[in-house]
Amino acid sequence: MASDSPRALSGIQPTAGSFHLGNYLGAIRQYVALQETHDAFYMVVDLHAITVPQDPVELRANTRLAAAQLLAAGLDPERCTLFIQSHVPEHAQLGWVMNCMTGFGEASRMTQFKDKSAKQGADRATVGLFTYPILQVADILLYQADAVPVGEDQRQHIELTRDLAERFNTRYGPTFTIPAPHIVREVAKIYDLQDPSAKMSKSAASPKGLVNLLDDPKVSAKKFRSAVTDTDTVIRYDEKEKPGVSNLLTIHSALTGTGIPELEERYEGKGYGALKTDLADIFVEWVTPFHERTREYLGDPETLDSVLAKGAEKARAVAAETLAAAYDRLGLVPAKH
Ligand code: ATP
Ligand code: MG
Repeated sequence: MASDSPRALSGIQPTAGSFHLGNYLGAIRQYVALQETHDAFYMVVDLHAITVPQDPVELRANTRLAAAQLLAAGLDPERCTLFIQSHVPEHAQLGWVMNCMTGFGEASRMTQFKDKSAKQGADRATVGLFTYPILQVADILLYQADAVPVGEDQRQHIELTRDLAERFNTRYGPTFTIPAPHIVREVAKIYDLQDPSAKMSKSAASPKGLVNLLDDPKVSAKKFRSAVTDTDTVIRYDEKEKPGVSNLLTIHSALTGTGIPELEERYEGKGYGALKTDLADIFVEWVTPFHERTREYLGDPETLDSVLAKGAEKARAVAAETLAAAYDRLGLVPAKH
């Protein structure tokens, strides 16, 4: 998209080898769609990944693997800017500025921090994990993004971004675009197949309900076939009373493009087994070419690295301009004239 189009920005963490189905349906599919209408910037957020312990060898491999998966999912380097966050040092630089704009109480209200620090034990949580939403604010504001495609779990962070952008603009003069979340309601929260009260997550406590895109398709098919539903037998969308079944209907609808009322009709009187088996087959059919494309991108590291290098260069040009404007407004003395 031309650079006078509205901007989109989003990022995904290389915290695991494979993306999961929630990442794909909730976020990555929207990245692909927004390439058509927006000047889109997408990044692998390695600086966010290190807010929790990472093995260096794995982190490096997972970062490249993340980029390969994004390309395999349909990101086109001709139509969007794809890069690695740490290749653009302005993220850390504006991140510091934004830290200095945020109230301690304000940061303490972020529920993602509460959830994540509880998962690893509050004593082990780092200050980086506490301030990661603020780095995310910088990620978004650097690109003057209008739209931020994310899942529901990120809504509060986009609210924080809007608050801080407005605060900065009010104090120092108009500098940042106020972004809006781009959240597609139907797929904004895909749930764990074994625990339909928890969001599907890379860092899930147990892998049993987690559908990883790069797992052996047979393993994923089995996970669908043994998904938790309920003791009833009726296939009906009802998030409160039937969260497991509703989650399966959401996934089916998203992968096939069939409306949920039509699915309810199709499965009337058929029982959960039929729905689960069909969904397992649908997923396998969808994911198999995705595996092939990911393998192709990984098998050609030169092309992958060159896509990422070009992306970083384009991203840096935009980010440097915004950072310079922010530093100037703050009253920092320019290093050179
Ligand atoms: P982690 O557990 O390490 O935070 P994650 O699974 O939440 O990993 P992220 O890289 O943090 O993955 O998120 C990438 C994008 O995927 C974000 O936009 C997030 O909102 C979205 N997302 C994550 N999980 C889901 C889900 N279960 N349903 C819909 N969207 C999701
Ligand atoms: Mg997350």
